[in-house]
Amino acid sequence: MENKDLHGFNIVNYHELIPRNGFVFRFIKKDNDYIHTFVEGSFITDTLTPTAMVVGHTLLDFLPKKQALQKLVYYERAWDGDNVTYEGNIDDVHYVASLNPIEHDGEVVEVIGTAFDITDQKRNEAKIQELEKLSVVGELAAGIAHEIRNPLTSLIGFTQILKERANDDPMQSYLGIMMDELDRINDIIDKFMFIAQPDKTVEIKVYSINSIISNVIESMEKEFALKGISIEFDDDTLIRAECDRSLITKVLQNLIQNALEATEQNSEDIKISLKDISEKHYLIQITDKGSGMTNERLKKIFEPFYTTKEKGTGLGLMINRRIIQLHQGIIDFKSEVGKGTEVKITLPKTLN
Ligand code: ADP
Ligand code: MG
Repeated sequence: MENKDLHGFNIVNYHELIPRNGFVFRFIKKDNDYIHTFVEGSFITDTLTPTAMVVGHTLLDFLPKKQALQKLVYYERAWDGDNVTYEGNIDDVHYVASLNPIEHDGEVVEVIGTAFDITDQKRNEAKIQELEKLSVVGELAAGIAHEIRNPLTSLIGFTQILKERANDDPMQSYLGIMMDELDRINDIIDKFMFIAQPDKTVEIKVYSINSIISNVIESMEKEFALKGISIEFDDDTLIRAECDRSLITKVLQNLIQNALEATEQNSEDIKISLKDISEKHYLIQITDKGSGMTNERLKKIFEPFYTTKEKGTGLGLMINRRIIQLHQGIIDFKSEVGKGTEVKITLPKTLN
């Protein structure tokens, strides 16, 4: 037996149409508004928008205006009789939707929409893009870093000698600037060379993590003093663990440097702590009360070349994450604009 509704349409069991990880919705046009008459699918009703907010309402009632107006264009096209497919997202959830107009006597009387969650695919796409960017960076790095390294070493050496011998003030300051700039180039080349062959340089031994951190702080003390920022190292536990000392040093230098640069405006203290969190893992935490970051920015900080600094390379955090991954650890950022940033690095004491 066929079920018909008031208008004589077949009654469809919409539950059967609901894709796993998706949802089905219907809308009609009434007084120039598109009113939803149905929505079903745990993907939307549990995670994004409760049914009650959708049914009986227009897009503008439950979506931010910009998103609603974008979708309205698709709704209009569907109401004109086209099958429409589009990608959308609500916050971090991405989906692909298709709108199918239902005609009765040559007139569209209703549109049925189905949507699938494609968040995972999107994430993979983003990852692949990042990897592609990385391999381009890697090739570039391998090609030019070595070539630049040798002449650069002589430039740095001879500039150093000139600086020692020059005895008038302006010359001293020019040569000082030259040294700083050459150091900067050297730093970039260092990073490029590391990206080109990150695995070959690893040398794992057991070290005192306390002293690795102390050494980094000591080496940066001058810069801290210059900026009037103090750094507090809280290490009540002694941790000995396997790692590559120079790589972990690199990570700490960049993270502390980032904290310092974020704190330049207000000169608030920076805190570092080292904790034993389990038999197998320890935690390094770097907390600043600096500029902080929006969520948008947080999503980008590990991308190669992402920087908000005039003189930044945008390679620091990308390399940091690689190094931490190489050590089978995790690096995590928490940040709030105007409040500051907290970086947590969890590492195993012994590596497999
Ligand atoms: P760079 O320091 O050369 O800019 P990084 O990869 O180290 O490159 O950092 C990327 C970006 O992440 C920075 O430009 C900055 O916008 C942001 N960032 C990193 N650490 C912090 C922090 N502690 N506070 C605020 N912003 C930060
Ligand atoms: Mg940096």
